[in-house]
Amino acid sequence: MFKALLVEKNEEGKTSASVAEINEDQLPEGNVTVAVEYSTVNYKDGLCIGPGGGLVRTYPHVPGIDFAGTVENSSDERYKPGDKVVLTGWRVGENRWGGYAQKARVPGDMLVPLPEGLTPRQAMAVGTAGFTAMLAVMALEKHGIKDGPVLVTGAAGGVGSVATAILSNLGHEVAAVTGRPETEDYLRGLGATQIIMRDEINETTKRPLEAETWGGCVDAVGGAMLARVLGQMQYGASVSAVGLAGGAGLPATVIPFLLRGVNLLGIDSVMQPTENRVEAWKRIAVDLPMEKLDAMVQPATLSDLPQLGKDILKGQVKGRVVVDVNA
Ligand code: NDP
Repeated sequence: MFKALLVEKNEEGKTSASVAEINEDQLPEGNVTVAVEYSTVNYKDGLCIGPGGGLVRTYPHVPGIDFAGTVENSSDERYKPGDKVVLTGWRVGENRWGGYAQKARVPGDMLVPLPEGLTPRQAMAVGTAGFTAMLAVMALEKHGIKDGPVLVTGAAGGVGSVATAILSNLGHEVAAVTGRPETEDYLRGLGATQIIMRDEINETTKRPLEAETWGGCVDAVGGAMLARVLGQMQYGASVSAVGLAGGAGLPATVIPFLLRGVNLLGIDSVMQPTENRVEAWKRIAVDLPMEKLDAMVQPATLSDLPQLGKDILKGQVKGRVVVDVNA
């Protein structure tokens, strides 16, 4: 038996989440069983701890879209007991049981060996949000980051915090957009040199193009904010679109694409091929200063998760929540 956060659905279709004891034979199919050490709280986890947001197919469900731990059993020749591994994506924690448990079972193809220089706790301080932030930065680099400040939206959240720290560490000037003035010192500590309040960017304008300002952008917010930012990009600059914390609609025009050659790059962390995953994790170990990562982390236990799930959906979580599943 082991502990897990179990989400159940009653006959009226209402879900409830609580810590429960589970048998190993209830774990899903897979050729690698992992003794999970840490997981994290991401926006999607908020949906899956609650009513599911259309992500969860069957109940009871164990959420947790990422985890790091030690291989316990494996019939996959790439992994042997004792190996440290990390998992993000593949819809784990959505349509199959995830990391909010002391054990997880998955196909070996979904795992990545823990990169040299990272502990399981550090890997989860990065987690899905940080991994996605790295993919977003790599996509910007591929298309060329222009001189001048790089904008990060939703900056005090998980993706935004890690993107701010990585970009700043790579020597870019980072302008951080936040709706929470109280996070200014935190964001400056991560390396942001300019703090912009959310309302300033969200103000509407009829002008499809404004001054060419940003040399690149990592956008975790979408919606009206992304639409406005597109018209402020420098000629030929790129936006990595990561999330929709501010809405799924995009009330934009095609003008920034036609007259400024702006690139809108979609970032999907879920289905990345293994070689990209390994490359992104290696870059994280090198390009993300660990002292900045420590400043982003708040610790949690399995029993904290029902409340944290609600908080993250309201945009009230700062940085990264690392869940010690054995605490
Ligand atoms: P967080 O909740 O940690 O961060 C989101 C941030 O967005 C908040 O902290 C807040 O930043 C800002 N925000 C929240 N609500 C609004 C709003 N209504 N208007 C404007 N800004 C808002 O989430 P994550 O960082 O984990 O994820 C961010 C987004 O990226 C989510 O939509 C998530 O689903 C998506 N995502 C996508 C992935 C992919 O593969 N494409 C992978 C991981 C996440 P502040 O307080 O600074 O204003």
